[in-house]
Amino acid sequence: MRKPILAANWKMYKTAAEAQAFATELLANLKGQALQDDVEILVCPPFTALPAFAQAVKGTPVMVGGQNMYPKNEGAFTGEVSPAMLVAEGAAYVIIGHSERRQIMGEQDAFLNEKVKSALEYGLKPILCVGETLEQRQRGETADFCQGQLAAALDGFGPEICDTLVIAYEPIWAIGTGVNASSDDAQETIGVLRQWLKSAYGDGAADKVRIQYGGSVKPENVEGYLAMPDIDGALIGGAGLVAESFWSMLQTAATIKKA
Ligand code: PEP
Repeated sequence: MRKPILAANWKMYKTAAEAQAFATELLANLKGQALQDDVEILVCPPFTALPAFAQAVKGTPVMVGGQNMYPKNEGAFTGEVSPAMLVAEGAAYVIIGHSERRQIMGEQDAFLNEKVKSALEYGLKPILCVGETLEQRQRGETADFCQGQLAAALDGFGPEICDTLVIAYEPIWAIGTGVNASSDDAQETIGVLRQWLKSAYGDGAADKVRIQYGGSVKPENVEGYLAMPDIDGALIGGAGLVAESFWSMLQTAATIKKA
């Protein structure tokens, strides 16, 4: 049984003080609850707020992740942050290949492959994002394109990657638009990704990988995704910025029992 993981990706929102206020509210809700037995809780603040947030949630079930990293320990890489720096500040996860980084910063598959390798080297669990554009979906290319992104980012890995890897299927047209994929469509693509993992690494290994859906997830629609057989959580942008709605989604996730 895979434990679902709900991750809030804060993108370029929240100062350190605002992150601390969110942590206070979330921890007050969590007090006395045992949600963490049924759902993994992850928040990915911007780098400037990550240390303050990580301090605020230290020793609690709330995990912390980076939104990006540069695949080197240290060096002359102005503006970048290393996996070792993220680990030192309390991060356990890192998002790799978010479509905003692919599209706006021009990050390519081979570079993302390097990042996955580097994250693992430093003990960070990668959340690898894949997803198609609207035009690709309309041309019927979704499955091939997303499998291709997965294969490229995981080039050179063996089945052991499945022990730590999390995948986020995020159709680009659904991110921040309010237009979410239907739970059936999300399951269909995520099912294809699971099949790809099975053929690459074997059924046992592939069944360990948690695959999230991301794209306009909110309290009103999260249950539909989490009830799907291959969907093991959500990567949440806008609705993850509000402690109350993140808490509501966590509560929903904790109640879903799959066969
Ligand atoms: C995201 O940031 O990855 C995301 C899916 O954003 P939103 O939930 O706002 O669509």
